[in-house]
Amino acid sequence: MPNSAIVVCSSCGTKNRIPVARINDGPVCGRCKSPLNTEGVTTEPVIVTDHTFDREVLAHKTGVLMDCWAPWCGHCKPMEPLLAALALEYAGRIKVVKLNVDENPATTSRFRVMSLPSLLFFKGGKVVDSTVGALSRHEIESHLKVLL
Ligand SMILES: [Zn+2]
Repeated sequence: MPNSAIVVCSSCGTKNRIPVARINDGPVCGRCKSPLNTEGVTTEPVIVTDHTFDREVLAHKTGVLMDCWAPWCGHCKPMEPLLAALALEYAGRIKVVKLNVDENPATTSRFRVMSLPSLLFFKGGKVVDSTVGALSRHEIESHLKVLL
């Protein structure tokens, strides 16, 4: 079911499926009725910069898919709707972020991003996988398995 996020209850561990429209309405756990912590649950790609990277990516509790792109990169364009769809589908399980390499040289060189588009897959503050070039949704999803 699209347009919903998976939120794990911190009290009983139950995975709750919450409609995206209700994510900020103080949802409670379906089993134990504890308030669910939806902080950090994102349903669309988040723009990260050299300044926010550590907090938004390395410190994030779920896996993170980072798209490295630039406005002049023709192969980056078709990735945009794919990443938006994945951010929604995997809300609560995987965070999708976008890094503009032109504006963020420190993070770009830190991870040796040489060609665009590049996807980096982070888990527990480390890169666990990466790809270069435009991919289909199916190809991206096969790489996302390492983050789940
Ligand atoms: Zn619960």
